[in-house]
Amino acid sequence: MSASHKVQICSCCNATARCRQRNFSEEALAMLVVWGELDVDNIDAPICEYCYEDLRDVLIDRAGEIEVMHKQGLPKEVEQMIVNTIQPLRGEHKAV
Ligand SMILES: [Zn+2]
Repeated sequence: MSASHKVQICSCCNATARCRQRNFSEEALAMLVVWGELDVDNIDAPICEYCYEDLRDVLIDRAGEIEVMHKQGLPKEVEQMIVNTIQPLRGEHKAV
């Protein structure tokens, strides 16, 4: 078993389960936080399979909305979430 996939407490639901960090895009994470589906503290935290599927289902359910955002431009709050919260957490860019 790989070290990145070990049994621990899920940051999202507090269940003891196999957890690992999931590879959501910055944009997907920002939308999940803005929609209240994901806690800012849980961005890039290890989460269990159940929580991961939950978040993925939200993105699938709201795919129509996401498509509209791509056509019309990301809402300000999503953009700000990416620039001010997610990118600094990932150490990619400095917050403006
Ligand atoms: Zn969980």
